Amino acid sequence: MKIGILTFGRPQTKETEPPYETKKIFEAALARGLEARIFCEPFFSFRERDGKMEIFYDNEPMPACDVFIARTNFIEDFGLHSTTVDMLLSAGYKIINSNTLTSAATKNKLTRKLLLSQAGLPMPRSSIIRDIASVSTETLALGFPLVVKTPNGSGGRGVFLAENLETVLPIVDYLTVTQKIPVLLEEFIKEAEGKDIRVFVAGEKILAAMEREAKPGDVRSNIHAGGAGRPIELTETEKDIAVRATKAVGLEIAGVDIIRSNRGPMILEVNARPGFEGLELATGIDVAGGIIDYVTNHEF
Ligand code: ADP
Repeated sequence: MKIGILTFGRPQTKETEPPYETKKIFEAALARGLEARIFCEPFFSFRERDGKMEIFYDNEPMPACDVFIARTNFIEDFGLHSTTVDMLLSAGYKIINSNTLTSAATKNKLTRKLLLSQAGLPMPRSSIIRDIASVSTETLALGFPLVVKTPNGSGGRGVFLAENLETVLPIVDYLTVTQKIPVLLEEFIKEAEGKDIRVFVAGEKILAAMEREAKPGDVRSNIHAGGAGRPIELTETEKDIAVRATKAVGLEIAGVDIIRSNRGPMILEVNARPGFEGLELATGIDVAGGIIDYVTNHEF
């Protein structure tokens, strides 16, 4: 079986090291006796002739590949790069997490809220607001402190804790007027005490899970924001909602963040491009190997 790891963003040349996750997935495939190759999206080109599209990689005809695993890096214009995914799918290539680039999974927190809500998944109460006029009514309903989120933040960036109206008003004013973006206000789950759970999902399976704890003085438990991780046992409900949340946003492989509240576990986020270096470190689990096992057993 030939596995392609489809990466995006900054072109990788022979001199540049691929990101940790790409490298680990590549090595896990080789360790299982499979063929593997890293494909970097900016090296794809196409030739259209009479209704037929030929695909080239690094200016050579596209080599055979049984399945691709899409791993996006940071990309500024998803629309342009997702064309490559569409071209490969249209040519009959199989891609795991193709929706990473083509669906609402990548869009923003607001779209993901909608999809998770449609799937009936538990989440903290929230409001999406467009200006400061609605702040008082919405904050009254949600209570203080509350969490303010920007639609496109990740890694904990764009997540603020607001203690009172005096704090929340200028943030909302700045984001809606200067940045011209909608703002997400969310009920603060105080009882979680700065902890949440990162669950790594592949299909119906949980590959690994860790509890993350924010560093003192922060409410964001993201490893990127300095949070620390340790292994954790999930309840059946937590496993179930993590798998359902992954499907709800159209993914096969995802990093789902869950927070334990007094009203039960709730979904905070579904990450379409989950890193797993911190998770492997915290749990000792070979997440990359789990991904390859999932891919090799996957039925398209
Ligand atoms: P990002 O996508 O940037 O990781 P999240 O929405 O997952 O943003 O929030 C980042 C972190 O902030 C979470 O991992 C969690 O620790 C904390 N957090 C987010 N929302 C809440 C909330 N409603 N109540 C308590 N803590 C929260």
